[in-house]
Amino acid sequence: MAYQQLKEELITYSKEIGIDKIGFASTEPFAEFKSRLEEQQALGYASGFEKGTNEERTEPERLMPGAESIIAIALAYPTRIKNDPKSVKGDRRGLFARASWGTDYHIVLKEKLDKLASFLQEKVPGFQFSSMVDTGELSDRAVAERAGIGFSGSNTLIISPEYGSYIYLGEMITNIPFPADQPLDEGCGTCTKCIDACPTGALVEPGRLNAQQCLAFLTQTKGFMPDEHREKLGNYIYGYETCQVVCPYNKGVDFHHHEEFEPDPDLVKPRLIDLLAVSNREFKEKFGKMAGSWRGKKPLQRNAILALAHYKESSAIDTLIKLMNEDPRPVIRGTAAWAIGKIGEERGFRAIEQAMQREKEPEVIEEMEKGLQFESIATNK
Ligand code: SF4
Repeated sequence: MAYQQLKEELITYSKEIGIDKIGFASTEPFAEFKSRLEEQQALGYASGFEKGTNEERTEPERLMPGAESIIAIALAYPTRIKNDPKSVKGDRRGLFARASWGTDYHIVLKEKLDKLASFLQEKVPGFQFSSMVDTGELSDRAVAERAGIGFSGSNTLIISPEYGSYIYLGEMITNIPFPADQPLDEGCGTCTKCIDACPTGALVEPGRLNAQQCLAFLTQTKGFMPDEHREKLGNYIYGYETCQVVCPYNKGVDFHHHEEFEPDPDLVKPRLIDLLAVSNREFKEKFGKMAGSWRGKKPLQRNAILALAHYKESSAIDTLIKLMNEDPRPVIRGTAAWAIGKIGEERGFRAIEQAMQREKEPEVIEEMEKGLQFESIATNK
């Protein structure tokens, strides 16, 4: 079979079904990536969300015996909201990072990969494949880099010359020996903007991320937000993207190629107070299709409380007092107590003192103490 011709037909078809960029890679083990993984793990920099052993993550043949090539795809996503609602005093809004706008990209990219698979199934008897998007064993980024989708930036993201880093990635291992593409001969040059702009120092050196310090990762954890990072999130309630916003390759980038990724302003910038009152059912109905809902509502609500503290939103005090007094989840009670203190109103401090007499959970009491410390900071000013 003429694999080069089949490759060209597949590229043409990929454009027809709305894939913005496609590339082809070999299935050689990702040796360099494996040693980086080992270093990351030794340094304690991994996120813990990764799937599979290091061997499975770097040796495609282990995932699909007979693997001959990997097809990498990229879809560009929008960066600006039409009719962007403002977050104003008395009506504060949170923000989902752009990678969570619209329908969950895992679903959209999987559909595209399924279409590519159907196309190949019709042409190649005995075709075999294994597709993954983000949650599979393979590193989407390592595959995309090898397949020439983009180069690996100092912010650890894949940067495509056409679409910047605002792209979703997915891949399909196949048993078809497609001719491979070449990695791009491009890089960051002398730029260090993302490293300089990262508020937590999570980008410890070019191309090395300590996920444990990365705000995007921390917005997805379920426990208390570490103290030192609480005031750095601004109004982000899911994800964080300063390392993308400052990148020169992303300047002016805003592609609206896919209806599925169009942001609903009230979902991607939800009213913070409303989010705190949402029931499980409402949450599922409203936010369930967004990538940012995958950890459930608790981390988002915790972050919404931190965003209200960031704004020192006094109209939120009653809601926060109610949460501190009544919410069954210690993380929410404790974070609410801290936020009440941060907002810094007399009645808030008195409410913390009262709640403290009833509270049994040591970690919540600790947050209440931290909340009350804001009063002494205020009086000593
Ligand atoms: Fe590279 Fe600069 Fe973009 Fe960072 S901000 S990824 S250093 S080009």
